[in-house]
Amino acid sequence: MKRVNHTSKHPEFLLKSALNVSLVSVIAIAPFTVYDFYVIKNGMGFLGVIAILFCTFNAVLCFKGTYSLPLNLFATMPIMAGCSLAAINVWGVTASFWAYPAVLTCYFVLPLYLARLANIVYLAIILPFGWYNLSPDVFARFYAVLISISIFAYLTLKEIALQHAQLHRLSITDVLTGLNNRFLLSDSLENAIFINQCEKAPMSILMLDLDHFKKVNDQYGHDVGDEVLKGFAAIMKANSNSNDILFRLGGEEFLILLHSADENQAIQAAEQIRSHVQKSKLLPEGELTVSIGVCELVCNKHRKDWLKQCDANLYLAKNRGRNKVVACSQC
Ligand code: GH3
Ligand code: MG
Ligand code: MG
Repeated sequence: MKRVNHTSKHPEFLLKSALNVSLVSVIAIAPFTVYDFYVIKNGMGFLGVIAILFCTFNAVLCFKGTYSLPLNLFATMPIMAGCSLAAINVWGVTASFWAYPAVLTCYFVLPLYLARLANIVYLAIILPFGWYNLSPDVFARFYAVLISISIFAYLTLKEIALQHAQLHRLSITDVLTGLNNRFLLSDSLENAIFINQCEKAPMSILMLDLDHFKKVNDQYGHDVGDEVLKGFAAIMKANSNSNDILFRLGGEEFLILLHSADENQAIQAAEQIRSHVQKSKLLPEGELTVSIGVCELVCNKHRKDWLKQCDANLYLAKNRGRNKVVACSQC
């Protein structure tokens, strides 16, 4: 069983772009490597073979779904940069073109914070290489273009990262209440089961359903109903710990995943929310109530059975007259 991590520093984007860069590099370098190896025989062919081997290995890893930061940081990137520097040293201006894709490689195989660093180091190292191997006017243009490409690449990748983070946040958030929507529910429950098995920490869930909410809409209108849902979410947040994860499952149904809480602690948390809601002034007249099902995770239980049991407890709470908390031990 594996822990699912949605805040990974190496998103899908990096995996795909490292794969693409590796494949394109192999295709681009291969003919020159063959030529250098068999015709020119100046040692550049040997460097080309090393680059091709590492890029192929990286491509295979990425294809299998594994992004290796050490491989890209300490092998792929330095080898690509090293080849371009060696080529400039041997071929002079003819090989200076390789420096441009080498800069872009930083941004497509490394996380942004490391890419920027690698880019600066590369620019610093290539400065004396270019200076000694290119004429001053070529060097001035070569270096200006390299810096421009570096800035464009950095700004573009930074914007993509920002938009990616924003879209990810939107995709997991319920717009009305600001709680999590269902998107991460399965992964969060799987993680809880993983932690429960590895660290023996108790895990519990609460399933909450507002009582007679349809009547609230019918009596006061949908807009008041929306405000009640927001107010209820605020009560849930105020009565939760920072480790707890809160979800709106849909409509007026919610779920809280309580980390390190056994059944008794979960019942206490549920009772606290239930009584806060009853005492709240969320409705213009009368009182709002909530029914809550509680279920602690027991060993080797599948996520779906865990949810099903909690739902059954919620159903009992409704049947027992609503405004109730029901846990497995009270069934
Ligand atoms: P019970 O006590 O058995 O849970 O009864 P209930 O009326 O709460 O349950 P029911 O499933 O019959 O009705 C749920 C209502 O929730 C119906 C729907 O109009 C309302 N609802 C669902 N989503 C929203 C929403 O986003 N905003 C508002 N205002 N109402 C919503
Ligand atoms: Mg309801
Ligand atoms: Mg309901």
